[in-house]
Amino acid sequence: MANPPGELRAALDMLRAQREGVAGLARRQESRLAALVAHARAKSRFYERLYRDLPADRLVLRDLPPVTKPQLMAAFDDWVTDPGVTRAGVEAFVADPALIGSLYRGRYYVCSTSGTTGHPGLFLHDRGALSVYRAVSLRIDVAWLSGRQWWDMARHRLRWATVVGTGGHFAGEGWIESERRRSRWRRRALRVFSVQQPLPELVTALNAFDPAILTAYPSAMKLLADEQAAGRLHVRPVIVELGGESTSHDDRDRVSAALGGALHDAYGASEFSPMAFDCAHGWLHVNSDWVILEPVDADYRPTPPGEQSHTALLTNLANRVQPVIRYDLGDSVLAKPEPCPCGSPLPAIRVTGRRDDVLHLDAADGHTVSLLPLAIGSVVDDTAAVHRSQLIQTGPTSIRLRLEAETGADAEQMWRVAAANLNAYLVSQGLADVELVRASEPPQQSVRSGKFRQVIAGSQAAP
Ligand SMILES: [Zn+2]
Repeated sequence: MANPPGELRAALDMLRAQREGVAGLARRQESRLAALVAHARAKSRFYERLYRDLPADRLVLRDLPPVTKPQLMAAFDDWVTDPGVTRAGVEAFVADPALIGSLYRGRYYVCSTSGTTGHPGLFLHDRGALSVYRAVSLRIDVAWLSGRQWWDMARHRLRWATVVGTGGHFAGEGWIESERRRSRWRRRALRVFSVQQPLPELVTALNAFDPAILTAYPSAMKLLADEQAAGRLHVRPVIVELGGESTSHDDRDRVSAALGGALHDAYGASEFSPMAFDCAHGWLHVNSDWVILEPVDADYRPTPPGEQSHTALLTNLANRVQPVIRYDLGDSVLAKPEPCPCGSPLPAIRVTGRRDDVLHLDAADGHTVSLLPLAIGSVVDDTAAVHRSQLIQTGPTSIRLRLEAETGADAEQMWRVAAANLNAYLVSQGLADVELVRASEPPQQSVRSGKFRQVIAGSQAAP
């Protein structure tokens, strides 16, 4: 059967929740949070310890201490609620690219994160959570597509191209590969395109596929828009979907003018995807029946609506295997104080996310080669023993590399392997002359914003 009952149930409940409005959404959020917290206390040794001194019931969200990725990762085997899941087991699973899109232990979808917050993470999602994510995707399609656009989508046979970092168990590729395994029509309609491949190859592949939906990080989408404007790319997408990073008005206008189609934003993370989706008024609406996003300051105190937060705390109400409760997401969020004119009862936010730069480097033949942050960042982060990395372009043909080794790892060995991987990647992009400079200092946060950026281009390179 194509759709498990869980997915249909979740989709129907979402329709009802939206029809019941703010009160219906809040009621669901409250009861799901209570169930999640009870489950975490009973089944996760990490949360049992963390919540030990809290009252047994009647807890409200703000009573619960926030958690961070390094804290959860350090306690991985105590954090998970299935004793059969271990960090060693999951690490072995994600180390095998042949397993991308398959389920760990036959039950859990896994995605690994690298770079965006500077600390690698491993996130597991159980079948209940996957049903909710699929139902959320349906909610988004219903919100975004007009009757005419559904018809255009059908004429494109629902082909959906996602341009992402590949070769690791990252959220984008792994999700689509697992969906492709579910049925023959999905295998034909869904396709992942690697941002790591040279741009001319990517353009040729997209031209051949002719997608109805084109999804990419804004940095990649800008390059594709330039290719389309130059006449090399000629796609006719119905929907152009930007994910991950925030975008300026100029960039959006450029993308929209070149690629056509309706431009939309979705906001997702490896910890819950997709958390929010945009409306015609330019706000992102949070799927608040299944996810809680709290804008907070650096001390985790609530940031008032209308003000930009320091970070946001995420609570995933759908996933049981790895409870994510008041988790520091690292994104700056602004909550809309008044209801959105679009009429949606889902809370509206704006996000200033993780901002990395595209690098523009000079090739030996005189051309400029553009490298996407996700692509070059993942080359380094996939090196064994690298805990954190940062790449700074310091000139037209030079990159400064800052590395921090995992505790107990051989730092010299890590440097040699990371530099060899990065050099091989640069050669594959026609950048054999680019010089790698080994930094003596570790990766650093921006003095100005306090945020960690993994890939930093030229003029903003000063730490
Ligand atoms: Zn709206």
